[in-house]
Amino acid sequence: MKILRAFKVELDLNHKQKTACVRHAGAARFAYNWGLACKKEAFANGEKTPTAIDLHRELNVLKKSELSWMYEVSKCAPQEALRDLDQAFVHFFRRVKEKRAGKNVKVGFPHFKSRKNGLGSFRLTGAIHVFEKSIQLPRLGRLRLKERDYLPMSGVHILSATVSEKAGRWFISLQVEVEITDPVQEQRPVAGVDLGINRMAQVSDGIYFENPRALKGALKRLKRLQRSVSRRQKGSANRQKAVQRLAQAHFRISNIRKDALHQATTYLTRTKSAIVLENLNVSGMMKDHHLAQAIADVGMYEFRRQVQYKGAWYGCQVLLADRFFPSTKRCSQCGQEQDVILSEREYGCKACGQVMDRDLNAAINLKQLLYV
Ligand SMILES: [Zn+2]
Repeated sequence: MKILRAFKVELDLNHKQKTACVRHAGAARFAYNWGLACKKEAFANGEKTPTAIDLHRELNVLKKSELSWMYEVSKCAPQEALRDLDQAFVHFFRRVKEKRAGKNVKVGFPHFKSRKNGLGSFRLTGAIHVFEKSIQLPRLGRLRLKERDYLPMSGVHILSATVSEKAGRWFISLQVEVEITDPVQEQRPVAGVDLGINRMAQVSDGIYFENPRALKGALKRLKRLQRSVSRRQKGSANRQKAVQRLAQAHFRISNIRKDALHQATTYLTRTKSAIVLENLNVSGMMKDHHLAQAIADVGMYEFRRQVQYKGAWYGCQVLLADRFFPSTKRCSQCGQEQDVILSEREYGCKACGQVMDRDLNAAINLKQLLYV
């Protein structure tokens, strides 16, 4: 992908170079004001207004007679100024349109440029080369830079250079086209994600995803339906009905769960360049008869499945921690391990004294695996 960028640094000019820059800025201002006068006149006479190309052609004719001093400056300076003038009119006509449409805008006809506002500026195109301590411009030659290593020396396409004066100091601004691979991916952070029963997912940066509220109610209903099934006689029509209702409740829970998981997994794979998850013991987890735990396990499995395929879409790497990595027992600050009571929400380290939310501590531990 190509993006436009500007780099501005101060120039370190000698007396001769300053004179040349003042002359270029003067030529640019002259061309702009002369072009504006031509356009105004055409307006007043009801004629078609001349374009930058028309004006440049006419200016070249005048250069041969009364404007011979313009030969001392690069032809780019007046040419670019006439282009700016065209742009000024484009914006003017846009504002007129907006005003007519009822917008509260100042129409503001383009102004003549005055010396009162400083020496002004000029823009050059063509052969522009950046060196370590200087920049080479058409006509002006090599100009020293006050700052080294800021202007891009290679890997970019230079479109133009604008030289400007402000309070006695001269600056150069380079407009360049930079080719970048994937801006988003480079800026995306990495994260550890702890999946659990209490919170669906805790991210190492502090963000977490709660279990959807609807899940709680649905779980209650599921429990009731399960009891209802076991109370009915096997093979009876009533049991058959109860089984059907139970299946519907399971389906509903899985949908609620999936929706919530999709939100979390899309967010994570789009905003992170890599995430670390616990590696789940799939054969072990289904043996647990505790309903909430069983549902959570299914959710974790689904979470992992989603981040793996979405990670491929959005360029997010998914890493699984070793099954025996003690993410909940380890202190994310000092690395000490200690036994934790599952009902306890806080992790309090006996070695370094750190107190932290238990799931957050686990998520940070998982993230740290990326740096091992
Ligand atoms: Zn500690």
